[in-house]
Amino acid sequence: MPVSDALAFDLVVVGSGPSGRAAAIQAAELGRRVAVIERSPHVGGFSLETAVRSHTMRAAVLEVTAHLSGGYAGMRAEREVTLDDLLWRADAVIEHEREAAADALRRSGVTVMHGTASFVDPHKLDVRSASTLRRVLADKIVIATGATPRRPPVIQFDGEVVVDAEGFLGVRGLPESMTVVGGGATGLEYASLGAALGIRVTLVESSARLLADVDEELVSALEYHLRGLGLVSLRGEEAIAARPRRRGGAVVHLAGGVELHSDLAVFAGGRDGAVDRLNLAAAGLRADRTGRIPVRSDYRTAQKHIFAVGDVARNGVAAPAVDQGRQAARAACWLWTTTAARVASRAISTIPEIAFAGAGERALTRAGIPYAVGVGHFRDLVRGQIAGDRSGFLKLFAHAETRQVLGVHIIGTGATELVHSGQLAIARGLTVDDLAAATHDGASLSEAYRLAACQAATRLVDDERALAA
Ligand SMILES: Cc1cc2nc3c(=O)[nH]c(=O)nc-3n(C[C@H](O)[C@H](O)[C@H](O)COP(=O)(O)OP(=O)(O)OC[C@H]3O[C@@H](n4cnc5c(N)ncnc54)[C@H](O)[C@@H]3O)c2cc1C
Repeated sequence: MPVSDALAFDLVVVGSGPSGRAAAIQAAELGRRVAVIERSPHVGGFSLETAVRSHTMRAAVLEVTAHLSGGYAGMRAEREVTLDDLLWRADAVIEHEREAAADALRRSGVTVMHGTASFVDPHKLDVRSASTLRRVLADKIVIATGATPRRPPVIQFDGEVVVDAEGFLGVRGLPESMTVVGGGATGLEYASLGAALGIRVTLVESSARLLADVDEELVSALEYHLRGLGLVSLRGEEAIAARPRRRGGAVVHLAGGVELHSDLAVFAGGRDGAVDRLNLAAAGLRADRTGRIPVRSDYRTAQKHIFAVGDVARNGVAAPAVDQGRQAARAACWLWTTTAARVASRAISTIPEIAFAGAGERALTRAGIPYAVGVGHFRDLVRGQIAGDRSGFLKLFAHAETRQVLGVHIIGTGATELVHSGQLAIARGLTVDDLAAATHDGASLSEAYRLAACQAATRLVDDERALAA
């Protein structure tokens, strides 16, 4: 295919997900000529699409099963509910997100080129589509190609009964049984979705602990809840192969010789940076074995004029990816200023959901920081009773001397929303006394902050008395 005349830009961004868009818009706002290259026919990013699908499915499962208001137990999902039913809202949400993304780029004057980008040399990229091959020259380049599910060759994916984490969202019909390989955030999200729908779920995780970076008490509460829904969790077990069975369904082989048979096997073993089509070698760059491009603190790669942001640079989530895109663009325009949040929060969309910000027990103990813990149980709140959430709780860590809030860890209804008050309290250096004195609506789950803060404050007073005695 002949190459058309090269187009020149100050900054070219590869990938139109949250990080790429943020980089492009920031550079355009700084007066640069900017292009975004996107291989899919739509802008918006591939992971975002998957994320919207999985979140929409989760919201639908909560509705269908009336899960948290357990009083409607008779309405547990029936077999005739299909994954299509659960996803009916997703297409409209994705369409809306794509339009909003395209509109934001258009209004910022960013040129969008559809096609797959690959490096020709450190300043040149080819953009290949079904019918065209264009060449682009760039003074600066931001790689924002995201990540795709890891697919080890020992797993025989067929897209029907052996699927990866994205394939799960395209499965037709609800299986009766399901094996989920991977006890990280995505594996547990899907395992808990399945268990809530009444699917017999077996979860396989090679390490001894699920969700290694989450507070142990929260993980125990989640496991207790999932066991109650019939989920079997096999920890310290390694899946060494999986394949479709001739007579239907899938088989997963464990290292110890056990075979797990189920209607569906989902492999959720992490994500690798999407670098396979980029021809990084032509730019003098290399990715690590998980496809991540090594970057410095300002997101510069080994080539000073090339930056990498979002999931292709770091294992991540959307909100920090946006910050990274913006910062990389500013660094590319020699305007380095950090805009990153001082205290990051993280949410895990299991059922029940988990969210946390700041330090946890293990980090505080390891750092030798004296602390007190306070817990607010949802069952002690009117809103918790109304929501039918009798197991959710909010755990708060405070510095024993300064009384400042150091960490907030939540499991239960609305955890993803609730965590942000705690995140702000930590970032602004608020104390347990500030939180205890703040009026929370009596019929809100936020009231759990006041309960937890009061308990932590009482413990601090008790500790002081004990020391003085
Ligand atoms: C199931 C799931 C649930 C999630 N839930 C959350 C959540 O609750 N909260 C949260 O913050 N985050 C969540 N995330 C993560 C979030 O979606 C990602 O972190 C975020 O989308 C990453 O953005 P990105 O810009 O790095 O990449 P992406 O959004 O993946 O965009 C990369 C883009 O680059 C394009 N591309 C790739 N290679 C090329 C090439 N060679 N040429 C041209 N274009 C190319 C792709 O087509 C894609 O559009 C979730 C992700 C998944 C999969």
